[in-house]
Amino acid sequence: MHGHGSCAMGLEFAYDISDSLATPINMLEWLARHRQSVPCCLICREKLTVKAQNSQITTYFSHLPGSSCPTVTSSPPSGYINSLPKQKGAAAQARQFAHDNMMGVYMRMRDRVPSMRWAEFEEACTNARRLRVWDLVGLTPEYVSSVLLSCKDKFVISAPGAKEVAFFLEPNPQAGSFWSFPSARKRNLFEVEIKTGSLQLHPIDFRLAKGDILARVQTLLSP
Ligand SMILES: [Zn+2]
Repeated sequence: MHGHGSCAMGLEFAYDISDSLATPINMLEWLARHRQSVPCCLICREKLTVKAQNSQITTYFSHLPGSSCPTVTSSPPSGYINSLPKQKGAAAQARQFAHDNMMGVYMRMRDRVPSMRWAEFEEACTNARRLRVWDLVGLTPEYVSSVLLSCKDKFVISAPGAKEVAFFLEPNPQAGSFWSFPSARKRNLFEVEIKTGSLQLHPIDFRLAKGDILARVQTLLSP
């Protein structure tokens, strides 16, 4: 068990089933413009229902009973990586970028989890190896810090108020399409609060997380 309780309150975002790009829509926008359509989960792509439609304060999207979404079950958040296309060494360039810019990648991950320790970074890299992240077809260096955040089942965000969160990359708009294909690239990193299931969207920063200070210092300390 990973603590993903069944007490999830529901989601604040969904996408319209007719939108092949799966653009995230918040509840107010949904009620204003998409009421007649079917909402789908940005993470598992299952159909959702709208709960408590007459009370805008507490209205939210909810999974149907028996959902296998990682936001309502105990399945590990990183499970989504298993279903993505892989080919041996396909993301070698991304792996090499992480290797050469370790500090930059670490600091970019800390933008989302300010208290992240080096041991947690190591755990994410260990899991990435086990999940064959560096064999993912279409994974480019721009995604390295986001995909590593999604390789660890949970992080603790300490302020304001401690909460346990998990990260996911949004699903590909079309199955098997490349991550960075111009119209279909993954644009958001989702942060899910494990206890409540509430969802936050973080647009991915596509600037490369450069940082070669460790390599430079190693050179300075070489014989
Ligand atoms: Zn879902």
